[in-house]
Amino acid sequence: MRNAILILVCAAFNLSSSYSQNQQCAVLPGNEDNHRLIRNISIANENAMERDDHQFVPINFIITTDDNGIGAIKESKIIDALCKLNELYEPVGLKFYIGGPIDYLASSILYDQSPLDSSERDIIYSDNKRDSTINVFIGNTSFNYSGYYHPTLDIIFIRKKYVNSIDVVLAHEVGHYLSLRHTFYGWESVSSFDPIEPTPEQLVFDGQTINVEYVDRNINCEEAADLMCDTPADYIRDWSGGCNYTGGAVDPDGVLLDPDERNIMAYYSFAECSEYVFSENQVGAMLVDYTFRTEISSLQEPNIDLVTEAPQGIYPINGEIVDENDDLQFSWTEVENADLYVVEFCPNNMFIVISRKYIVDQPTFTLTDLDLSVNYYWRVRAVKHTNLCEEGGMVSDLYDFEAKDLVSIEDNSWQEVNIYPNPTNGFIFLIGITLEDKDIRITSVFGQNMLFKINTGNNSIDVNDVPSGTYMLSIRSEESNVTKKITVL
Ligand SMILES: [Zn+2]
Repeated sequence: MRNAILILVCAAFNLSSSYSQNQQCAVLPGNEDNHRLIRNISIANENAMERDDHQFVPINFIITTDDNGIGAIKESKIIDALCKLNELYEPVGLKFYIGGPIDYLASSILYDQSPLDSSERDIIYSDNKRDSTINVFIGNTSFNYSGYYHPTLDIIFIRKKYVNSIDVVLAHEVGHYLSLRHTFYGWESVSSFDPIEPTPEQLVFDGQTINVEYVDRNINCEEAADLMCDTPADYIRDWSGGCNYTGGAVDPDGVLLDPDERNIMAYYSFAECSEYVFSENQVGAMLVDYTFRTEISSLQEPNIDLVTEAPQGIYPINGEIVDENDDLQFSWTEVENADLYVVEFCPNNMFIVISRKYIVDQPTFTLTDLDLSVNYYWRVRAVKHTNLCEEGGMVSDLYDFEAKDLVSIEDNSWQEVNIYPNPTNGFIFLIGITLEDKDIRITSVFGQNMLFKINTGNNSIDVNDVPSGTYMLSIRSEESNVTKKITVL
């Protein structure tokens, strides 16, 4: 009765067993998870779960790159994916939020995954996960899976192309995290269902004999597959024919299969159904699991006092010219009740297209890859992490600055500029330049603008009102720039 190809016992990671286009997830629940699911269903059946409006669940996103720091996903994509996750979990009553700063991790083993180096990868996962949060690592792989939940380490991996405002992969993996099985549980290692073959009554999967679920709800839906009777029998993991399965599979009694293609725990997420949902039983089991996961459910409710004040930019603002060769540190005023600051950039002052977006939890942020010779416009939103998706928060004014290659300009045209005397106790004279139409600044050696009164002549600067100390004197024009260190006695 049992078909030979069905007796595939899956290893801990069944990553390479299939090259189906639609392979969605590569997780295999272990025995412990099966017991958890059975417990969750039984409790959910006994007690209609009290569903609060919202239970807040922190997520820790970890952006991985290769060893050289290349390949990071845009943080705006993470916000998109978080908001999609919240949309799909709205009926569940769980609301996810970014629980802290987004971590970056340079690790080719995580970023460019292969099923072969899993033990080394697991150590990196363990070292970089945070307690009391759902850890979601975002990376890449040339293998054919879009994500997985790792039951031993209790972490989620998502391939970065599926981190967006459309795909349900993250919602699916969070479903596994909260104990759900696939609707087609047992058929994971069967690369494709052949309706010509007689359908077996049992399969072997994860080292266990699994009863095949019948279409008729009165036969074995409580003990078979995902153990839920409100998810129809499903054996399919490779359907790509749209949101209506017509492959002709029948159950062991010969009854035609009619799966729920919209179920988030099925594999029809590439069938482009108009909506994706969890069943009531799935919702119940997830809520029980959440309650038992005290590491996230017993956390103090996040403070939801609103942000009422907009941050104000400190640096760089108002046409500042910055050196594109340097890292640029942004700063703004700290705002009460803000958990996160979203720094947004756009190529003009219209702010229709946001070209870059970063999320930080401090009123400062360093940009390390300024584009060449560009005018930047930026603003910062102070938000509650619990309503990042509602586009709310208090927004600063719009600021602009210009990134220029100051080093080469200095080297090229004004390198002959000399100053004397230095040290000085009154006037600085310049050779090789006139000060007409130039912007003269005295800054601290750390770059802060000093508000000293300085009078300039055509080729002299009066520093009589500047207190004793060492400063940077910078002279700028539209075309060029020079900076000299001066000492005032
Ligand atoms: Zn899955």
